[in-house]
Amino acid sequence: MPSVSKTAANASPQTEKPTHYTYLKEFRTEQCPLFLQHKCTQHRPFTCFHWHFLNQRRRRPIRRRDGTFNYSPDVYCTKYDETTGICPDGEDCPYLHRTTGDTERKYHLRYYKTGTCIHETDARGHCVKNGLHCAFAHGPHDLRPPVYDIRLSIMPLVTTLFSRYHAFNKHVSRLVKPVS
Ligand SMILES: [Zn+2]
Ligand SMILES: [Zn+2]
Ligand SMILES: [Zn+2]
Repeated sequence: MPSVSKTAANASPQTEKPTHYTYLKEFRTEQCPLFLQHKCTQHRPFTCFHWHFLNQRRRRPIRRRDGTFNYSPDVYCTKYDETTGICPDGEDCPYLHRTTGDTERKYHLRYYKTGTCIHETDARGHCVKNGLHCAFAHGPHDLRPPVYDIRLSIMPLVTTLFSRYHAFNKHVSRLVKPVS
């Protein structure tokens, strides 16, 4: 029997399935070498694994050693130009860039394959609507647990501790207060 001690909350990119890891790490992060030579056959319609134009370029999502993401999976950048694909804050911008197909959000560690697709699966196992690169799970085997930013995941704990502390204080003050 394989060990099942690892919980969803402890999942890290290193425990991802190889295919999922490839998408998380590399999907649309590099420019297509064939496109540069005018030889890519996946340009129209655009279905290439790599980016052709800068506004299709996706940054690789990383959860840093301190548990925080390099860019938010939820908060969109207000400076990113969707036409040119340029952000004045560049590669290190902490906000989500609305790339073609919203790939920074859909293929983020927080969201990629964490929900089941509403579309059918074809005979080859691909999504009938989104094709080979569908960011939603096609079957239970294709689901992965979301990876959270530590800043968000510890918040409920902080809130709980805070309210407990207050309750305890109230309790103590009631005990020490002389009865009037
Ligand atoms: Zn290409
Ligand atoms: Zn930005
Ligand atoms: Zn799908």
